[in-house]
Amino acid sequence: MTKIIGLTGGIGSGKSTIAAYFKKRGIPVYIADEEAKKLMNTPEVIKKVQTVFDENIIENNQLNRKKIAELVFSSPEQLKKLNSIVHPEVRKHFTDWVEKYKDRPFVIKEAAILFESGTFKDCDKIILVTAPEDVKIDRVMKRDKVSKGQVLERMKNQWSDEKKIPLSDYVIQNIDLETAIKKTEEILKELNKM
Ligand code: ATP
Repeated sequence: MTKIIGLTGGIGSGKSTIAAYFKKRGIPVYIADEEAKKLMNTPEVIKKVQTVFDENIIENNQLNRKKIAELVFSSPEQLKKLNSIVHPEVRKHFTDWVEKYKDRPFVIKEAAILFESGTFKDCDKIILVTAPEDVKIDRVMKRDKVSKGQVLERMKNQWSDEKKIPLSDYVIQNIDLETAIKKTEEILKELNKM
């Protein structure tokens, strides 16, 4: 069976950078956020999501995410219904993707909220990317041209590294990129031995 290696890390930790490196090294990498966004814009899923709401939530043939967020914010019932539609779709999409690589010993699933969503339980091993808080904030401010307050706002819904570290099999401290890549290579060696 192809093993699932979860790759996660807080905002600005550099998990996308590490994911890109794994990809460069020939490992199949599934970027959960990107795939979910694409999936949510397929006509079939759009149609199913509309059935949850009386209000029109389609705009220019796409889901109006802001409106959906507003609606479910005030209705736990609708949130539950929405999740019961979206979650199985997302799960199936990932399972189908893994199936394509059934001859590989392992694939990587990069997800920002691997722990928070509970999907870490479906992984055989977990790699956590970390960096000090101030470094992460600096990176995101520069990358997204946003204020410190905006970064902190996004961070507050994520678990702390202290909480994630004991649940992880490998930790990549990503301050200096060269050191982080060296660690990534060590992990690759370990994964190849599995
Ligand atoms: P998010 O969850 O917000 O998508 P992320 O964890 O995927 O963040 P990246 O996008 O990989 O993080 O990295 C954040 C920014 O920091 C990027 O602009 C990236 O180029 C830069 N970066 C990543 N690692 C390093 C490093 N070791 N040294 C300097 N800059 C880095």
